[in-house]
Amino acid sequence: MLKVEELNVYYGNIQALKGVSLEIHQGEIVTLIGANGAGKSTLLKAISGLLKPKQGSITYMDQPIGGKAAQTIVKQGISHVPEGRRVFANMTVEENLELGAFLRKDKDGIRQDFERVYELFPRLLERRKQLSGTLSGGEQQMLAMGRALMARPKLLLLDEPSMGLAPLLVKTIFRIIEEINQTGTTILLVEQNANMALSIANRAYVIETGRVVLSGTASELNESDQIKMAYLGGH
Ligand code: ATP
Repeated sequence: MLKVEELNVYYGNIQALKGVSLEIHQGEIVTLIGANGAGKSTLLKAISGLLKPKQGSITYMDQPIGGKAAQTIVKQGISHVPEGRRVFANMTVEENLELGAFLRKDKDGIRQDFERVYELFPRLLERRKQLSGTLSGGEQQMLAMGRALMARPKLLLLDEPSMGLAPLLVKTIFRIIEEINQTGTTILLVEQNANMALSIANRAYVIETGRVVLSGTASELNESDQIKMAYLGGH
């Protein structure tokens, strides 16, 4: 579904991605694991068109998408939930969700997706008229995910959905990610919480200082001593 080959991305003179290659197959949950600053968010931004790669290719459904405008990429079926859940604080929950569908014209489909998002996140239904800036951190995360789903993506890019959330809420968010996947959406998940990420993923890539240093099935990586020491708390 998505193939990234030998990708190099720079911020000015700083090279954040150094020849990254990876593949995502339809229906999978793939997770990217790595320390702060490893380049995980940069990779998601390059895929969703927020950053232009300097070299390398990104192919989605057999089409090159590297360097295309973010709007074009959303239209092709890739949605990105950025780190830090940027919702529009002065707009209501419902207005934020509407914005997620702004490139669509299929009114019936949009209505169905509103229902689907409210089913996945009943909390958002209760608070649909509330200003988003007054939502809790967890609710804002739900809204950011809900807004991305309103574009009806085939591939959903999630950047640190568990960040700053209480453990119980982290569990809920991960359960919902699995549910979204089971209804046909492929997922690329960036997480610091490697334990949780590997528990729901099919496969994983480990990124260190801009390079993929290890990849495999989630169970292989769960068993790897290197991963246990570096990312799973050494257990
Ligand atoms: P984190 O989990 O901390 O977000 P990450 O793996 O997502 O880490 P990135 O945000 O992709 O890491 O950052 C990769 C590298 O690029 C880091 O060294 C970072 O300092 C650098 N970087 C990121 N954004 C910029 C920017 N706007 N300008 C300059 N350098 C940047």
